[in-house]
Amino acid sequence: MFKTFKTLPELFAAFPTEQSAIDHFTAIRWANGKFCPLCGNADAGRIGTLSGTNTHKCYVCRQRFSIRVGTIFQDTKLPLRTWFAAIWLIGNHPKGNASTTLATDLGVTQKTAWFLAHRIRESQRTKSFNAPLGGIVEVDETFVGGKFQNKSKSVRRKGSGRGGMGSGKTPVVGAVSRDGDVIARVVANVDGDTLKAFVRENVSRSATMVVTDTWVGYKGLRPEYRHRTVNHSIGQYVKGDAHTNTIESVWSMLKRQIIGTHHWVSAKHLDRYVGEMAYRLNRREMPKGDRVNNMLARAEGPLPYKVLIA
Ligand SMILES: [Zn+2]
Repeated sequence: MFKTFKTLPELFAAFPTEQSAIDHFTAIRWANGKFCPLCGNADAGRIGTLSGTNTHKCYVCRQRFSIRVGTIFQDTKLPLRTWFAAIWLIGNHPKGNASTTLATDLGVTQKTAWFLAHRIRESQRTKSFNAPLGGIVEVDETFVGGKFQNKSKSVRRKGSGRGGMGSGKTPVVGAVSRDGDVIARVVANVDGDTLKAFVRENVSRSATMVVTDTWVGYKGLRPEYRHRTVNHSIGQYVKGDAHTNTIESVWSMLKRQIIGTHHWVSAKHLDRYVGEMAYRLNRREMPKGDRVNNMLARAEGPLPYKVLIA
């Protein structure tokens, strides 16, 4: 129902003018009816558009606004066509995009590229996709960065208790269904309360099986879940259907993106990169043009530059 496109040239052809891009975004944002982003008024009859302009007026709060207000596009002068191209690049490049590359591709400064990439990542991570996970679900954590990077996992787990973020290594927990979807996020530590809360929130009680390694943090899931473990410390990696190879491959992909593409990611921003990876993985079957429209439908909520650099 919305315009779509298979390639970047098709995207530009679909939006020959800035006005056509504004019209497209307006149609997607108001697909379920007009609303005022300033007061929330959803009575379409009480929202008007000043003729011949892109300025809308709400007759409830009596304020004027553009369609960018309250979205990731707010407070930027970048044309929407440039944003669309950025969304295409970030949403579709399998290894992610360094902000230096993005800056060159879009003809913007590196600071602008960095800012828009983070806003796009922010909207990629805000909503969970297909939660809770079902089928056979593997759960595991990994550690990114810091002085413990090359230590064994058991050493890093023990050192990740309270204040784990301060020690320079950032724990990330993830769950992947063998049916295909992944949910992952940065956590403060890998103790039992944190890990089990993550499982309860993101894995269906009716999942066929939850597979983890024997880390003590996963003890106690059994009454609620069909929990199976593999004991890596004795060299056990596969026990029938029980293994964590799928989530391990997600972690290798995450590290390749962070080290290979971005070179270094600070703990503060890591969760957005994790969200970006999960977003792309979960939509690997979705046509590229549809991914752009999907992102445009999630563009609510600006991430002010002040918040980003805080
Ligand atoms: Zn209003």
